[in-house]
Amino acid sequence: MKILRNYIDGRWLDSSTAKKKINHNPADRRETVSKAPVSAVEDAEQALQAASRAFAGWSHTPMPQRSALLRNVVRLMEEREECFVEMITLENGKTLRESRTEFRAAINEAEYQIAQGRLLGGDHLSSERRGTLCYLARRPLGVATLITPWNFPLNVACRKMFPALVAGNCCVLKPSDLTPATGALLCELMDHVGFPHGVINLVMGQGSVIGDVLVTHPSVKAVSFTGSTEVGLGIARRTAGRDVQVQLEMGGKNPLVVLADANMNEAIAAAIIGGFSCSGQWCTSTSRVIVEQSIYNEFLDGLTARILEMVVGDGRDEGTRMGPVTGPKQYETILNYIQIGRDEGARLCAGGHALDDGKHANGYFVAPTVFADVTSNMRIAQEEIFGPVLSVMKASDFEDALRIANETSYGLSASIFTRDLAKAQRFIEESEVGLCHVNLPTAYKEPQLEFGGVKESARGLPEAGKTGIQFFTTHKAVYVQHQS
Ligand code: NAD
Repeated sequence: MKILRNYIDGRWLDSSTAKKKINHNPADRRETVSKAPVSAVEDAEQALQAASRAFAGWSHTPMPQRSALLRNVVRLMEEREECFVEMITLENGKTLRESRTEFRAAINEAEYQIAQGRLLGGDHLSSERRGTLCYLARRPLGVATLITPWNFPLNVACRKMFPALVAGNCCVLKPSDLTPATGALLCELMDHVGFPHGVINLVMGQGSVIGDVLVTHPSVKAVSFTGSTEVGLGIARRTAGRDVQVQLEMGGKNPLVVLADANMNEAIAAAIIGGFSCSGQWCTSTSRVIVEQSIYNEFLDGLTARILEMVVGDGRDEGTRMGPVTGPKQYETILNYIQIGRDEGARLCAGGHALDDGKHANGYFVAPTVFADVTSNMRIAQEEIFGPVLSVMKASDFEDALRIANETSYGLSASIFTRDLAKAQRFIEESEVGLCHVNLPTAYKEPQLEFGGVKESARGLPEAGKTGIQFFTTHKAVYVQHQS
């Protein structure tokens, strides 16, 4: 069990409340994973003030020095890969293989953003005037508040911290109170490599208590948030009209469209990867599968047969394909949505219940669940369940499938499986999402491309890719005329 402390101005501190939140392993709640500080507003203020004081020094530290420190963090992360992988599984419940995938993705994105730092401000353009030099200069913003969810406790923290820091900002990280230990491990390494005090701060606690000051404090110039649409839009309202850049990565209700000409096995595999990896607790997980009617029954039979074979258990066990869901609140919410699906008249084809005896008796396990004959007017087709529940919907043809895919307030990710390039092209053009895939799972991503949504899934510049670092900078168009 890890006893955690806040990290403020280069020191590890208990919170001013002296209270601790105990977190349990979601696969076995008898096991305590961490005791984390329950911070008060004063603790968050202290961290923001430390970041504010450190900004002048850090923002003027030459870029090569900033990148060198961050490269050292990556090197140490690689050395402690097992530590991170085990901690993610212990806190979140995902399988060790899924935690390793998260770890590799975090490293990959961190390296890309460090490299982007070296390219910042390099946009020299040819001028219309003779003897005039013109270029775009970028400067860091100041204090950045980084708020992360529990489903990717390492990758999301890295996706925000590395670009913020390499660009010269100082930051306060607020991890989810369900998974604080992974964020603490990352900050321990940052402490170890010798960042100047105050450049990185970590404050743990409840968003409902410290969230407000973290986004509205006058020193804060950037807020990068990943989490639910409800909390994200609350942040948008509270920061409206203020001099602060806001980036909100929020929920999704991602469709996977399967047309009659698709490779059936690959489409089923993508539905399973997208729907049940990390127990469906991905923002880009597949939650709706929209299948053309001529192959609807065949697809459903193939999908259900594969799901009934899925081994659910402790993420640390070798044979486990799907772990528990992350804690009692998720467990209740998911089971509640399963009941809603039944009440709405959707046809249950697999799962539909908790797993709570034998090896599952002490964890938060939900059987992988498939509802068929779901229609867009049902809540399970519209609301983000964030669990191992797939809604399968029938479409009369491609046009109908495209219409159903867009028939939601969310716009994060979408996939189509087809061999028809013309239809794939139309899907790319007309699906209302920030990530679009052809013959790949909805969750597929690479670090060089922007990661974000449209509609109620996001606000502001997306994370990752080139905008990942641009978000944390101001822009200034500079014109210099030579005088003789
Ligand atoms: P959440 O919104 O409950 O919490 C996210 C973070 O916000 C946590 O650190 C929480 O403590 C903090 N928070 C809570 N209330 C706050 C407030 N009033 N002010 C400021 N901060 C506050 O989300 P969650 O349950 O941790 O994560 C699941 C959600 O995250 C899902 O909706 C999922 O789709 C979304 N998500 C989105 C992406 C993406 O990139 N779009 C990635 C991962 C997760």
